[in-house]
Amino acid sequence: MHYKAFHKLSYGLYIVTSAFEGKKAGYIANTAFQVTSEPPQLAIACHKKNETTGVILKSGIFSISVLKKDLNLKIIGDFGFMSSSGLDKFSGVNFFIGQTGAPVVTSDSVAWLECRVVNSVDVGSHILIIGEVTDSDVLSDEEPLTYAWYRETYKMLAPKNAPTYLDNSKLEAGTITPEKTELPAPEPVHKTSTTQHVCTICGYTYNPEEGDPSIGIPPGTPFEDLPDDYRCPICNASKEYFKEI
Ligand code: FE
Repeated sequence: MHYKAFHKLSYGLYIVTSAFEGKKAGYIANTAFQVTSEPPQLAIACHKKNETTGVILKSGIFSISVLKKDLNLKIIGDFGFMSSSGLDKFSGVNFFIGQTGAPVVTSDSVAWLECRVVNSVDVGSHILIIGEVTDSDVLSDEEPLTYAWYRETYKMLAPKNAPTYLDNSKLEAGTITPEKTELPAPEPVHKTSTTQHVCTICGYTYNPEEGDPSIGIPPGTPFEDLPDDYRCPICNASKEYFKEI
């Protein structure tokens, strides 16, 4: 099996939210899709260990916000790589309470759809939850974000709980191995201003040639010269979670 074929499937990226007895929860999903038009129904695939999954199953409601292409990456970090338990993911975003009672995020979104759960199917690690759309609206004519663009642009990995998570060994196992040739011994790696570092939590790569202009880190700044309180722009992990590539 060639696992890279899975990366040819097209998806968007969405914030899925719910609430039960005053507790709000949400996460980033790519597996959200329309399954019927009459009645209008959507499906989402939710990991059993995700905090939000339990909240959706207890409340029977959820909402989906369609993220825009030109978004602030912090929203991916907050909703995509942190657990809703013990963290108020909603403190930094705009949202309102929809007619079902689910919180509807409007930050960085081009549209939203609110649903009542009508069915669910246990599919092993995940639960496929089907909801009938009760309300929806368009917020902007901006271009929606696609998962492929996000993955290629930010060299991001899916979190391990994502239905589409593939570890690198599987991806590499499916590639064609070139004929073996005698190669010279690799040069020892020296730390230079061009050494890249990858976040071991989310897969974000810090490239010193690019820096991180969004927070005032100019191009040409080696990883070692980043301030001690530097944080991954995607998942908010601190410097010790980065390793050299
Ligand atoms: Fe990260």
